[in-house]
Amino acid sequence: MINIYSLMPISNSFKPGKHFLQIPGPTNIPDRVLRAMDYPTIDHRGPEFAEIAKRVLDRIKLIFKTKEPVIIYPGSGTGAWEAAIVNTLNEGDKVLMFETGQFSSLWWEIAKKFKLQIDFVPGDWRTGADPQIIEQKLKEDKKHEIKAVFIVHNETSTGVASRIGECRKAIDNAKHPALYMVDTISSLASIDYKHEEWKVDVTVGGSQKGLLLPPGLSFNAISSKALEAHKNSNQPKSYWDWEPMLKNNVNGFFPYTPATNLFYGLDESINVLLEEGLDNVFARHKRHADATRLAVKAWGLEILCKNPDEYSNSLTAVLVPDGHDADALRKVILDNYNMSLGMGLNKIKGKVFRIGHLGDFNDLMLAGTLAGVEMGLKKSGIPFKEGGIMKALNYLSQ
Ligand SMILES: *Cc1c(COP(=O)(O)O)cnc(C)c1O
Repeated sequence: MINIYSLMPISNSFKPGKHFLQIPGPTNIPDRVLRAMDYPTIDHRGPEFAEIAKRVLDRIKLIFKTKEPVIIYPGSGTGAWEAAIVNTLNEGDKVLMFETGQFSSLWWEIAKKFKLQIDFVPGDWRTGADPQIIEQKLKEDKKHEIKAVFIVHNETSTGVASRIGECRKAIDNAKHPALYMVDTISSLASIDYKHEEWKVDVTVGGSQKGLLLPPGLSFNAISSKALEAHKNSNQPKSYWDWEPMLKNNVNGFFPYTPATNLFYGLDESINVLLEEGLDNVFARHKRHADATRLAVKAWGLEILCKNPDEYSNSLTAVLVPDGHDADALRKVILDNYNMSLGMGLNKIKGKVFRIGHLGDFNDLMLAGTLAGVEMGLKKSGIPFKEGGIMKALNYLSQ
């Protein structure tokens, strides 16, 4: 029998207070959105679900800033990457991609499997896609053999945001008809994004970052040009095929079982985003990113992103000084302060930690996050200057 008078803990597994989930996705979910999903699952071919689905399919367009269709898959972002490729391109098609970090490299891996001929422009994982290179490469392609340009808007592994509007101008300057494919999984509803104005042909999205939802939904926002390309694409596709989706969606239905409860959640997360107002959402993310960068600079640490024009407002990746291990620091912070930070992926493993400041987030949550980082730096014996947190707090209280 357990001795209830013992002062020994029964186990050490309980951690009081809220866990700080400050990885750059999955992100914190508003209680309102959690409550909206805590509801019986209904018939996905019945009238009640059709009404919800039609409302969601209509209003999600506001988030992508488009009037064109948005496809919603039950699936992770990786599936929507594949969908963008198999619905528009053919084996052997030439495409242009940029090595901005781990996520662009993973998209490249998928493109290779579908036997695209890829010009993968190498990068240092500290900068975004270069509009000048796009313009030059497309101008040189006089025969218009390049069928698509692929860019990850916010490279979640590095905290670098490529300039999607400027890259669009580069394609226009070259007067090139290539399709424009953009991954917005960690920028949508955090950093301003304009599918229609920037004439993007396929925008890839995911539910678990700025969209305030759990993992499980992914998106293809598509243009009429992408739909034309779909007619001529002969890549094998079934689950990801746009055609049966678009046909069924007209009436609020799906060719297979949609993630019904995540639709309730998405309906509510769209309410939340529209209530705050998208411009205010973007301004809040910029303010928290600015405050974070002030703290990092005051600590005397280096931000991985080299070009201030490309700073991400979703997350900040921070380099630890040579000879120190970012993963050891993350462990100290998790064990002592119950906060998860993002790890360095692949080429930058152990060299950086990533502070997610996107999604359902406010000033005091940021204050707690930065306090946890500063205490963790001290406890780990990493050389740094104290007071970054005060710099951030002064900025936030101006
Ligand atoms: C998270 C993320 C992905 C991967 O999405 P999954 O849902 O894990 O498949 C792809 N691209 C970017 C930019 C991301 O942040």
